[in-house]
Amino acid sequence: MLSQGAPTASLDSVSAGTDKDPMRILVLGGTAEASALIGALAGMPEHEVTLSLAGRTSSPRLAPVAMRVGGFGGSDGLAGWLRETRTDLLVDATHPFAATISANAFRAAAATGVPLLALRRPAWRRHACDRWTDVATIAEAAAAMAGFGEAPLSVLVTIGRQELAAFLGAAPRRHAYLVRAIEPIAGAVPPGIDAIEIRDRGPFSLAAEEALMRERAVGVLVTKNAGGGATAPKIEAARGLGLPVVIVRQPSKPDVSATVATSEQALAWIAVHQASPSTKRGV
Ligand code: NAP
Repeated sequence: MLSQGAPTASLDSVSAGTDKDPMRILVLGGTAEASALIGALAGMPEHEVTLSLAGRTSSPRLAPVAMRVGGFGGSDGLAGWLRETRTDLLVDATHPFAATISANAFRAAAATGVPLLALRRPAWRRHACDRWTDVATIAEAAAAMAGFGEAPLSVLVTIGRQELAAFLGAAPRRHAYLVRAIEPIAGAVPPGIDAIEIRDRGPFSLAAEEALMRERAVGVLVTKNAGGGATAPKIEAARGLGLPVVIVRQPSKPDVSATVATSEQALAWIAVHQASPSTKRGV
């Protein structure tokens, strides 16, 4: 069900059992929340759903709805796609650190009049016993690594692959970097850096995270403050083991009036929205 451009499902089809047009929904995904929402919407004939992925992972989990992969060509491209496919609702369920696509979604929704629902998971909150160094950027995270003394440490890095080269290129070379990522990290490790790859994809359990940190004698965790439950156990494990964490704050995203925090809330919002005739396309 993968395509590069238009959704694979017929836009003019009316699902069996309903006498109205289905509501056409585009979900900008790449998160566990988007997958959960898609899973719930997939079985409902009153919705015709397309999942859009950027294409960052080579083998994305297949979804039970039409999928398209790759950029739209900025906010104008996304607006064009919404008009062309006569989309009724745009759901921005992208990762908290995917700021560009969220800004594009906001602009495209404003330009087309298509309602926008933002699914934004809250950031993790610091507990009293957390040893966090809170930073704004990956560059600041790399600079913060200088504050952990002169002795070589084992550093668990869970920031994804895209900004890995920037982090490792600026971080102290005396440490050994244990890099967990979905995709291979070859090409993102500058010469002379001691980096070991752990290819894995969440969710991860607390027991597994604690075992990893103990077995690899991790001295520092470097992470984005992604929020959500799927990868939260690493934060809990670091807390339990008393480990310092260098944590990158979430970038700001547009202020969307319809914002929810969970896939269940998104589903409830869509149900209400579906029932309101004034919000249906062309009305
Ligand atoms: P980004 O910086 O906000 O977006 C860069 C460009 O990628 C966008 O301008 C857009 O291209 C395209 N794009 C992003 N998400 C898309 C989507 N869902 N469907 C179609 N095109 C998309 O995003 P990013 O940080 O590179 O993240 C890419 C994707 O990975 C996101 O969908 C996000 O949910 C997921 N993800 C990101 C992170 C992270 O840490 N950043 C972590 C886990 C998952 P055009 O301008 O050409 O439309």
